[in-house]
Formats: sequence, C-alpha cells, structure tokens
Amino acid sequence: MTSEKNKILIAALSQFIPLALLRSGQKHPPFLPFYHVVNDTVPEHINSYEVRSTTNFRKELDYLLKYFLPVDLETIVNKPKKNMMHLSFDDGLEECYTTIAPILKEKGIPATFFVSPGFVDNKTLFHRFKRAILEERGVLIKSGRKFFAHETPELDQLAKSNNISFAQYLSDHQPYMSLSQIKELQADGFTIGAHSIDHAEFWLLPYSEQFRQIEESMNWLVSNINPDIKAFSFPFTDDGISKALFEEVKSKKLVDVCFGTAGLKYDTIPFNLQRIPMERKQKWDAQKIVHFEYFYYFVRSLVAKNTVAR
Ligand SMILES: [Zn+2]
Repeated sequence: MTSEKNKILIAALSQFIPLALLRSGQKHPPFLPFYHVVNDTVPEHINSYEVRSTTNFRKELDYLLKYFLPVDLETIVNKPKKNMMHLSFDDGLEECYTTIAPILKEKGIPATFFVSPGFVDNKTLFHRFKRAILEERGVLIKSGRKFFAHETPELDQLAKSNNISFAQYLSDHQPYMSLSQIKELQADGFTIGAHSIDHAEFWLLPYSEQFRQIEESMNWLVSNINPDIKAFSFPFTDDGISKALFEEVKSKKLVDVCFGTAGLKYDTIPFNLQRIPMERKQKWDAQKIVHFEYFYYFVRSLVAKNTVAR
C-alpha cells in the first residue's frame, strides 16, 4: 500500500506531466470515473465525501470530454478502446434524476446508475447517512468516527432517544430516486445496475450473505428494469471479495459485469472492472485525479502492481 503522503507527492508531480504523455505507450484499463451526487447545497445526510456543485460538475465533464470519448456501458464492456470513458453514479440518490441526468443529456454523455433496491422509493436510509445526520445534529461526535456497520440497531436507538426520526427525514427530504424515476432514466437511454440490497460492508459479511446481497439485488434489477447488460457495483469496495464469489455469481448468470472502486487498475477477474472514485477526501478535482491515476499507474507498472489479485 502506498502511504497517503506518497500519494500526495505522486499527485503533485503528476500535474507537471501532460496527460497525452501519461496516457501514451502502454496499454491501460478502461477509464471509468464514478460519482455519487451533484448538488449546490450539501445535503445533511452526506458528510463522508465531497459534494460537487453543478458548476464544478459541468467544468469537470468538459475537461473529461476534451480527452475521452463518452460511450455507453455495452461499448466499454464489449468493445473498449483507449480513448473511451464510461461514467457511473452509485447509490441511486435523487440528484441522479433531478440534476445529473439532465446535465449528461445536455452534453450527450451516456452513463450507468447503480441503485440499492432497499433504498429505492425512500423505503430506508443508508446507515452511513443516518450517522451523518446524527453527527450534523451533534448527537455523535464527528471526529469520534465510531464505526457502525450495516444493521447495527445502535444508530436507530440513538436517533430515537434524541427525538430524531429517520422515517420523517426520508419522507421530508426524499433522498433517493423512486422506481418510476429510475425507469425514466432507463427510457432516456441510461443503463441501470444494482449496488447490493442495502449497501452493507461486504468485508464484514459471511460468504452466504455476500451472495444473497448480490443475488437479491440482481433479481430485483431483472424483474423491475430488465437491462440488456446485468451490471453490479460493489458497495464501498470489492477489496477482499473472493474468486469463488465472482465465479458463483457468473456461473449462475446473475451478473454480466461487476465494478469495483480500486482506481485505474486491471483485475484478475476479467469481468470485474475497476472504477476511479472522483469524490475524494483530499478534495481533488477531475484534472488532478486523472493525472494522478495515470501517473500512479505508470509508477506501479514499474513494479508490476497494476492488477488486483484475488
Ligand atoms: Zn455506494
């Protein structure tokens, strides 16, 4: 693992190298940036990643369009070429429908939206969003960062004892897209994929539960959306997901393609594609991230570390 300090150094150095040079020569994995949200005001439930404003998002897209050809999911999966990119957005937040999709349509950019069926129609709230609300309202200390996993009743109890209702928050703020909005995105030509049932920490789950999270969310996707390509993106990270799990979901035809979040890298699983997180704690913009990823790829290629092992 490269230390945070070294990454910052690599990022700083990379800014001096023209992107054309960084992208020349060797073969690169497909370029797959992903975001969650674009909003001019930061929603109370989001405090663990940077929220792009519409102005900055538009600027970033224009920057990416200077260097990459935006293509749909089918093209990047089946006929990838070096100059192509495919954008995706995780978690199925309402901004995907209200803000992101209109901007993408205006600029002619295809994209995939990964949704968690447990949250669609604002049925429940992601546990990290619950924590954020409690932190923003002073119930939890932000710097305390006590870890609350998926299905930990403690967050609900804390809310209750402080007269905070997550159900009320969901109905007041409607943070997620409805199924009909998701279907509209699909009708507009965007692809829809699954993102687990309720965004669990897979690394804390036994194999059978990891499998169930994929199986049930993919079954929901097929019965409600019936996409041409069955795509799944792992919540948080695909780090540590076993080869056996990939093999089982593929052999049972649950997925055609999966996505991780490890940056510009190949994966030993050929149908698992790694994406580039764009909302980073370092608050880097697209230009900085792109230069960093390609320079970091070059640096790692010197020590042959560009493939995620399983
Ligand atoms: Zn997610």
